[in-house]
Amino acid sequence: MAELGIDLGGTKLVLAVGNGQGHVLAQRRRPTELSGNPRADVEQIAEEARSLLSEAGVEAGALRAIGIAAPGPLDPVRGALCQPPNLPGWDDVPLCDWLAELLGAPAYLENDANAAALAEWRYGAGRGCRDMVYLTMSTGVGAGLVLDGRLHRGSTGTAGEVGHLPIEWNGDPCSCGRRGCLEAYVGGAAWTRRLRRLASPDGRVARLAGGGEKVTPVHVIEAAREGDAFASAELERFNDYLARGIVALLFVLAPERIVLGTIPTAAGDALCLDPVRRQVRERAWPILTRDLEIVAAGLGERGPALAALSVAWELHAEA
Ligand SMILES: [Zn+2]
Repeated sequence: MAELGIDLGGTKLVLAVGNGQGHVLAQRRRPTELSGNPRADVEQIAEEARSLLSEAGVEAGALRAIGIAAPGPLDPVRGALCQPPNLPGWDDVPLCDWLAELLGAPAYLENDANAAALAEWRYGAGRGCRDMVYLTMSTGVGAGLVLDGRLHRGSTGTAGEVGHLPIEWNGDPCSCGRRGCLEAYVGGAAWTRRLRRLASPDGRVARLAGGGEKVTPVHVIEAAREGDAFASAELERFNDYLARGIVALLFVLAPERIVLGTIPTAAGDALCLDPVRRQVRERAWPILTRDLEIVAAGLGERGPALAALSVAWELHAEA
C-alpha cells in the first residue's frame, strides 16, 4: 500500500509517494501555476499524481491515503482552504473531496506549519520529544505545536498562528492588517521588503544580490558571514525579535525543544541560533530554559515531501 503527499505552496508544488511511515518512494516538484479555475488545477494535480504513482510502481487501487499540506487558515471539517492569500480563488475549494473523488482514496488536509511540525517531530530535529514547537518564517511566520505527544490544533484548527503575536504595539504593519506582529519583523516576506528599502545600492548585500531590488535574507546571511556591518545589524535585529517571540511561547507552552526552519536553518549557530539561545536564556525563567533545546530543522530538501506524507500517515491513523 502507498500514500500520496501533496505540498501545495504559494510558489511551489511538491508531489510525493510514500510507502509506510517515513519512506518516500518518489517525488516531483514544480512551480505552482494556477489557471484561475481551481477545479481544472486540481484535476491537473491528480493527473500528475497518477503518473508519479505509476512511476513509483504503485498499482491502481493500492493508494491508501492522501495527505495535503497547504497554507492556512483551513477549514478542517470541510477539508477546504479559507481565503489563502497566496492561492487566489481557492477560497472554499473542497480540496479533500475533489482529490478523494479523483484518486479514489481518503484525503486529509493540514496547514503547512502543522504538517512540517509533524514531519520534524517524527523524522527530523524533533524526534524523541513530547513537547515541541516548530517555527517557520519562510513567507509568513507559523508554528506547529506538539503538546504532550500529539499535534495541537486548537478548537478551530487555527492554533499556532504565532506570527501574529504582537511584539511591538503600533509597530511595523503586518500582512494581517494589524501592527507590530512577530511576522512583520521576522517573516521572510516582511524582512525582504525592509531589506530592499534599506540596503544601500553599492553595499555588500545589494552587490551579492545583483541589485538592491533582488535582495533577500539569503544575501544578508552571506554578507554577515563576511562581516558586513549592515548585514550583521539586520541579523541582530532579526534575532532579537525572534527571541521575543520564543520567550512568549516558552511562558505559555514550556516546550522541551524549539525547532526553527528556514532563515535560522540557513544562518546557522554563530549568526542566529547562538544569539537567540543567549537572549532567550536572559529573558525567560531558568526553569523554562534549563533543559530547553533550540535547534535548526533537520529535514532540509526532504521536508516538503515528508510534511505532506506525514499528514497522510498521521491523520489516516487517527481517522
Ligand atoms: Zn499580523
